[in-house]
Amino acid sequence: MTPAAPDFPKHKKARALKPSSRRPAKELCSECGLCDTYYVHYVKEACAFLNQQIPELEAQTHGRSRDLDSPDDWYFGVHQEMMAARKQDPIPGAQWTGIVSAIAIEMLNRGLVEGVVCVQNTEADRFQPKPVIARTPEDILAARVNKPTLSPNLSVLEQIEQSGLKRLLVIGVGCQIQALRSVEKDLGLEKLYVLGTPCVDNVTRAGLQKFLETTSRSPDTVVHYEFMQDFRVHFKHSDGSTELVPFFGLKTNQLKDVFAPSCMSCFDYVNSLADLVVGYMGAPFGWQWIVVRNPQGRKMLDLVLDQIETQPVMSEGDRRQAVQQSIPAYDQGVTLPMWAAKLMGVVIERIGPKGLEYARFSIDSHFTRNYLYTRRNHPEKLEAHVPEFAKRIVSQYKLPEV
Ligand code: FAD
Ligand code: SF4
Repeated sequence: MTPAAPDFPKHKKARALKPSSRRPAKELCSECGLCDTYYVHYVKEACAFLNQQIPELEAQTHGRSRDLDSPDDWYFGVHQEMMAARKQDPIPGAQWTGIVSAIAIEMLNRGLVEGVVCVQNTEADRFQPKPVIARTPEDILAARVNKPTLSPNLSVLEQIEQSGLKRLLVIGVGCQIQALRSVEKDLGLEKLYVLGTPCVDNVTRAGLQKFLETTSRSPDTVVHYEFMQDFRVHFKHSDGSTELVPFFGLKTNQLKDVFAPSCMSCFDYVNSLADLVVGYMGAPFGWQWIVVRNPQGRKMLDLVLDQIETQPVMSEGDRRQAVQQSIPAYDQGVTLPMWAAKLMGVVIERIGPKGLEYARFSIDSHFTRNYLYTRRNHPEKLEAHVPEFAKRIVSQYKLPEV
C-alpha cells in the first residue's frame, strides 16, 4: 500500500507563503491543519508547538487552570468528574463502543449544532485521514474509528465561515484543540462544543506503514489497533481475527524513529482543553474512560445517558517502579525475546497498575520519554514548552544525565 501525499495547503494565503514558512513548527509540526487555512495568520500564537499556553487556555475554557497542589489535576487536567462507561449497544466498527459518535449524532439530531468536524478516511486508504464537516448522522458514522495518523482536522475551518454555520462541534486530539481554542474567538461562531480524545504516539502515514510492517503478522489486513490496558497491542484484521503483541516485545530499536517528532514532544496526552474527553486508559479493560471538564461537557454527556452504562473510576497497583525501569530500557532500545515479552505481559497484567493507575503509568512513561526527547533535540524550547504540571510528573523519576 502506498501512502498518499498530504494535501497541498488549501487557502491561497497559506499557499502564498514560502514552503519554509508555511508550517513554522517545522519538524515538530503535527499537521493539525491550521496552516492550510486563512487562520495561518495566527500560527505563531496558536500553534501548540510554537507557543505552549495550556494554563491560559484552560482558564479561558474551564474558568480555571490546573491546581498544581493536586496530583489528580497534574495527570488528568481540570475536571469536575470522571467515570468508566460503555454503550449498551456498541456501534459496529467504532474504535471502542462508539460513545464519541453517539454524542455527536445526538448533538446534531437535537439541533444543538449544525455541523460536526470529524475525520473520515479516503476511499483508497482506510488509514488516510479526510477531515470533513459532517451535516448528517451518516457522515458522522462514516468518521467512526481512529485514523491512527496525523490528521489535518483544522483544514476545514474556513468552510465554517463560507457555509454560515453558527453552532459547531469539533472532535479532535490535543494539538488540534489547542490551536482551535486559540482562534476560537475569531471563528464567528455563536457556540463551539469540543469533544476530545486522548492521543499519544501518532505517526505519519508512512510511519504507520513501518509500524504495521514491523509489528503485525499481516500489515495489509489491519483495520483497527489499540495499545490496550492489558499491556498488549490488539490488531483487528479484516477477516475478523485479533492478533495480540505484548508491549514488551515491540521492536523498540526499529520503532524509535517511527513516532512523529510532534508526538515525541507533546505533553497534552489527556486533551486539556476539550469540554469532554472520551478515551479508555483510565477505565477497566473493555470500558471507556470519560473526563468531564466543565458544565458544557456534562451537558454533552447527558445526551447519551440512556444509551450507556457507567461505573465509578477505580485505581489499583503502583506504577512507579515499572515506569522507572522502563526509562533506560526504552532509551537504549531494548527488545525482549518474544517468550520473555509474553511472560512479562502476563505477570504485569496480573499484578500491574489498573484503572487510573494504568493511566498514570502511561502518562508517566510518555512524559519522561518526551521530556528526554525535547531536552536532547530542542533544549532551547524545554523551559517554555513543557508545562509546569508535566515538569512535576517528570520530576518524580531519575532520568539519564544526557
Ligand atoms: P468512535 O465513535 O469510533 O469515533 C472516533 C472519533 O475519532 C471519530 O469521530 C473521528 O473523527 C475521530 N478521529 C479518528 N482519527 C482521528 C485523528 N487522527 N485525529 C483526530 N480525530 C480522530 N485513548 C486513550 O485512552 N489512550 C490513548 O493512548 C489513546 N491514543 C489515541 C491515539 C489516537 C491517534 C487517537 C485518534 C485516539 C486515541 N485515543 C486514546 C482515543 C481512543 O482510541 C478512542 O478514539 C476513544 O476512546 C473514542 O472511542 P469511540 O469508540 O467512542 O470512538
Ligand atoms: Fe501549523 Fe498546526 Fe503544524 Fe503548528 S502544528 S505548524 S499550527 S499545521
